[in-house]
Amino acid sequence: MLNIGCHLSVSKGFLNMGHEASSIDANTFQFFTRNPQGGKAKDIDENDVAAYNEYALIHNFAKIVAHAPYTLNPCSDNPQTRDFAKMVFIDDLKRMELVPHNYYNFHPGSHVGQGANKGIEMIAELLNRILQKEQTTTVLLETMSGKGSEVGCRFEELAEIINKTNLNDKLGVCLDTCHVFAAGYDIVNDLDGVFDEFDKIIGLERLKAIHLNDSLMPFASHKDRHAKIGEGLIGKEALIRFINHTVVKNLPFILETPNELDGYATEIKLLKENYK
Ligand code: FE
Ligand code: FE
Ligand code: ZN
Repeated sequence: MLNIGCHLSVSKGFLNMGHEASSIDANTFQFFTRNPQGGKAKDIDENDVAAYNEYALIHNFAKIVAHAPYTLNPCSDNPQTRDFAKMVFIDDLKRMELVPHNYYNFHPGSHVGQGANKGIEMIAELLNRILQKEQTTTVLLETMSGKGSEVGCRFEELAEIINKTNLNDKLGVCLDTCHVFAAGYDIVNDLDGVFDEFDKIIGLERLKAIHLNDSLMPFASHKDRHAKIGEGLIGKEALIRFINHTVVKNLPFILETPNELDGYATEIKLLKENYK
């Protein structure tokens, strides 16, 4: 069965996201833990979360993905920004235990000119401060397109962060198809080769979730603009081949395409029809 869903708004609560997912034939979803550009998180209603947990169990939901705010940057050169990253990470992971055994995805960071090596050090340093043996959440490093000074557009960089993190059994990777394509991994003409490289450098056992997006920007452009499925330069055929590849076919797929709920429903239907 294809485990698929899309990005949803958490503003009406968890049970509402469960209902919205079901309404478009999805069995997973992603949400921002707080305003993606801001800081403050809404209080969690424990009754709502408990109701969602029961709903997800009954309806056989796959693991869901929380997405950290874009402003979380562990390798900023500004100590206040790094403190903010730590505060958000700790607070979000604490909340995540209310929906145990799911994923928390974050953009590794932007080194803002300090260099990728320094960035990698600082990201691992934060992870070493905040990961807890007891946590049930797996933290996912997202593969990035490499715009600006982003860390994480090469598998090597993600592998280094993982290797420098002590409790790295709490770490995994979320592969974004738009980002890896823009980063120069040819998932259109050489999908096997890309997965082989991922396996050699990071290890496929770390691959936990997929952001399924088409790309408005060309191959290796290092530009991050998502397109609807089939309306970008990756294309429908390549994305259908992707979801059917044995390496990923049982992972949760999250659409982050520019859509409202009805557009997501159409894409989910198309992908399910082409899933073997
Ligand atoms: Fe992301
Ligand atoms: Fe993404
Ligand atoms: Zn993106």
